[in-house]
Amino acid sequence: MDIHEYQAKEVLSNFGVTVPRGALAYSPEQAAYRARELGGERWVVKAQVHAGGRGKAGGVKICASDTEIQDATEGMFGQKLVTHQTGPEGKGIYRVYVEEALQIDHEFYLGFVLDRSSQRVMIVASAEGGMEIEDISADRPDSIVRATVEPAVGLQEFQGRELAFKLGLDASLVQQFVRTLQGCYRAFTELDATMVEINPLVVSGDNRVIALDAKMTFDANALFRHPHVAELRDKSQEDPRESRAADRGLSYVGLEGNIGCIVNGAGLAMATMDTIKLAGGEPANFLDIGGGATPDRVAKAFRLVISDGNVEAILVNIFAGINRCDWVAEGVVQALRETQVDVPVIVRLAGTNVEEGQKILAQSGLPIIRATTLMEAAERAVGAWRNDLSQGVVVRDPGASKSLEAAS
Ligand code: GDP
Ligand code: MN
Repeated sequence: MDIHEYQAKEVLSNFGVTVPRGALAYSPEQAAYRARELGGERWVVKAQVHAGGRGKAGGVKICASDTEIQDATEGMFGQKLVTHQTGPEGKGIYRVYVEEALQIDHEFYLGFVLDRSSQRVMIVASAEGGMEIEDISADRPDSIVRATVEPAVGLQEFQGRELAFKLGLDASLVQQFVRTLQGCYRAFTELDATMVEINPLVVSGDNRVIALDAKMTFDANALFRHPHVAELRDKSQEDPRESRAADRGLSYVGLEGNIGCIVNGAGLAMATMDTIKLAGGEPANFLDIGGGATPDRVAKAFRLVISDGNVEAILVNIFAGINRCDWVAEGVVQALRETQVDVPVIVRLAGTNVEEGQKILAQSGLPIIRATTLMEAAERAVGAWRNDLSQGVVVRDPGASKSLEAAS
């Protein structure tokens, strides 16, 4: 789960990281008022969206008066900010953060990530701040310095000093830098973050080490342990399809194609999408119903996938270990009876109670296209989708039901 810059700054400042003074606003008038409250002569107004690259996209503006703040924020509120990280649809601006403008002497990059190969938290830093890390690693890879943290002892001061030295930081700033690193590291581990990025971390004109920008991502599966973090969620920044699924305890990933996928398990989801592509189709999404899905849950999943306007065929692919094929089949039948579904539905079941599952589908009298293997299912889904597009009819597969009648 991502949070806003102003939220990340508040979190990090509670762990001892220095951040600029700032205040949040929900309207241009409030932004101007906030600036007056903060005092000073120059302010930075920053669109709060869950994406970086705002500076280049017009989402960060330096202002020197009330009117400038009002003008700058008028152009932000209610608009979609499109940066190289948001995708072409952009992200809506509903909050603006107003900060005192600082004089910047130097910009550094500082990031904390999970390094899978060493299985540790890794600190990545560079004296080439302000640019995106992807650009730094393409243009100035030699400027990047790294350190991994031994989890049993945590981040050690000597590691911080070593990084400061490699970055060419002035000796008088090392203490502040080390405190910043330790604050970020503690926030990362204590709050189950998966990423902390400060870009830029600056040395200000008055010789302070300050996080000018902040980004944090949290492990969604650990949010139950951190209610204060969970509260920071902002649904306006999420794909509405994904938030609706999350609210129902289902995990959903929205994609660009036309074939909706209902599967169990992330690995099977990947394989299903690969196979759809191999068969010449494009997945519209995948919805993971997880293990032990009840008919009710399956029906919920179905309704969610149907509500996606891009979906022109639905492929249900279940390999039941903990799950039960008969429950999945019941869920599919329930959803098709309760909801108007005018796209072809392809179901492939394997594993626990598969015979009962097939029987339920066959006896339902519903136009469900059945398949035995994944490849067959993907081909039928793509075939049915093409057919459906050209002729506007739902295809029934007599072959599949015949072989089933023989089996039952
Ligand atoms: P991002 O583009 O979404 O990563 O937004 P940032 O918060 O990193 O801001 C982009 C850039 O705006 C920074 O790299 C700075 O160069 C500049 N900037 C932000 N705040 C200030 C400030 O207080 N003073 C000055 N001079 N520049 C700032
Ligand atoms: Mn930034």
